[in-house]
Amino acid sequence: MPERERVYRTEAIVLRHSDFGEADRLLTVFTPYLGKLRLLAKGVRKPASRKAGHLETVTRTQLLIARGRNLDIITQAQTLEPYVALRQDLWRMSHAYYAAELLDRFSEEDAENEPLYRLFATALGWICTADNLPLTLRFFDLQVLGLVGYRPQLFHCLHCNAPLEPVINYFSPQEGGMLCPRCGESERSARPLALNALKVLRHMQTHAYAECAALQLQPGTHDEVERALQGYLLYILERRFKSVEFLNMLRPNAATCAKRANDQSP
Ligand SMILES: [Zn+2]
Repeated sequence: MPERERVYRTEAIVLRHSDFGEADRLLTVFTPYLGKLRLLAKGVRKPASRKAGHLETVTRTQLLIARGRNLDIITQAQTLEPYVALRQDLWRMSHAYYAAELLDRFSEEDAENEPLYRLFATALGWICTADNLPLTLRFFDLQVLGLVGYRPQLFHCLHCNAPLEPVINYFSPQEGGMLCPRCGESERSARPLALNALKVLRHMQTHAYAECAALQLQPGTHDEVERALQGYLLYILERRFKSVEFLNMLRPNAATCAKRANDQSP
């Protein structure tokens, strides 16, 4: 795409939006080839706006965008995939918001990551139908980590390189994966990880979604998997201030769902 072109077209998924001026809205969207973009949608808060319905959060949409002096401006929007099931189910929607927030944190403006875009679009479809939403998000967490260059090492000890034995090993956010018992004991950031939790992480890292969605986990095992991934994600993001809000998103409840739904409603 030549830099000087006055308008350009892209599909995008809306990650979030905020009010801007009297009737406008500022959108953060994720695109296949342009990474994350911040765009201005003019007049979409007016009742008669025809664009508004095509620019809701976690909607996949086709955009025509005009280059602006500061912000580029959305001139046309056409929904490609509304993920209707999310709009009808606050619980599912809260999980979709989590996925959008994770994407937002891990993507950069103007940095192309087409596989990450495809994963996100597909994952929103999973969230529309999944029976086990927390497990679906853990699968998503692991795939995102892989696609942004932080694939956790789950098979060898990151200190001594020995293959892991089927015992309680350690997970270290700081090291980016597993440590054997001997190395893990002396690493301050490492926490013990039960064998079942390690098996689940390995399975999800190396299998397709369909082969993971049906896994039946003990609640304790899911919690352990979640804690390991959560600790790793937070370590990478190093966003101390926002981390509390982020943690709350990991455990959606009615109050936070309702609040976010209100914040995001037109
Ligand atoms: Zn070791």
